[in-house]
Amino acid sequence: MVAGYRPNNLKEALEIMNKEECIVLCGGTDLMVKRKKSAGVEPGFDKPVIFIRDLEELKQITLENNILTVGAACTCSKIAQSDLVPEYMKKSVLCMASPGIRNMATIGGNICNSSPVGDTLPLLYALEAVVVLEGINGKRELPINEFITGPGQNVIRKDEILKEIKITMKDFNKVLHRKVGTRKAIALAKLSFMGLTKVENGKIKDIRLAFGAVAPTIVKSKDIENEIIKMGTIGKDNIKEIKDKYAEIIKPIDDQRSKANYRKGTCLNLLGYYLEDLM
Ligand SMILES: Cc1cc2nc3c(=O)[nH]c(=O)nc-3n(C[C@H](O)[C@H](O)[C@H](O)COP(=O)(O)OP(=O)(O)OC[C@H]3O[C@@H](n4cnc5c(N)ncnc54)[C@H](O)[C@@H]3O)c2cc1C
Repeated sequence: MVAGYRPNNLKEALEIMNKEECIVLCGGTDLMVKRKKSAGVEPGFDKPVIFIRDLEELKQITLENNILTVGAACTCSKIAQSDLVPEYMKKSVLCMASPGIRNMATIGGNICNSSPVGDTLPLLYALEAVVVLEGINGKRELPINEFITGPGQNVIRKDEILKEIKITMKDFNKVLHRKVGTRKAIALAKLSFMGLTKVENGKIKDIRLAFGAVAPTIVKSKDIENEIIKMGTIGKDNIKEIKDKYAEIIKPIDDQRSKANYRKGTCLNLLGYYLEDLM
């Protein structure tokens, strides 16, 4: 039996975590599975558990000065119901699990779980989201690609909580999201693709391409994106050139869900399909 803390606010939570190392539990949909034991036996929590799901400071969604801020304890369902969240973001969040899980699963939990198959991650990478971490001594902000360092690994400190995610909203007019799984619901991704592009007067002004489940972390390359912006327009020749560049950095593995060559081939096909649409 271990202690459980239910702090009333973020300050109280951070004070507890400053004194004692705790396991942060938000929706619990990852943790309860990871720590489960056989039927009838309590889950294996070896440190006090701190429940953060009800902290108001972590449950807000706001849009100010073109910055969308989503509290870490916002569930997928809450995000999908918000009037402030654009449709393409909602669609990406709604491809996760099933309605019951989405009522519990939080965006902060998906980020802190840091799995390359996490469904919110290609979207957040493509949007170049910034995570806000808070500890007793203050806040720090990190781009999501610097926060997540490997499968299940990130740079959060033991006394920190992920408070919120900040996204500078841009006007993308060509959007494609695809999650490829064994079935439509309650299946983890074999691979996923998120493409966001701003095309103006036939020219590519901004492009963000992110691939999930095909490397230890989400694949996104600012260098290749900048090269595409320099090209300005997409033609048959540069589609091949762009696909060749991504082929070098998409490095999937074989596992129980899929084969590496299927993952890579399908990602490159989705990329080709998306780029053709930009022609
Ligand atoms: C049946 C089922 C189906 C699923 N299907 C999918 C799917 O299709 N796609 C998908 O991506 N995921 C899926 N998941 C995984 C899970 O639902 C998501 O990763 C979810 O977003 C986790 O959120 P949570 O709040 O439940 O996290 P929790 O389980 O509470 O926490 C996950 C991890 O993050 C840490 N953490 C959580 N919040 C914070 C915070 N604010 N600050 C610091 N640390 C924090 C915890 O300590 C823990 O290490 C599924 C899970 C189940 C059980």
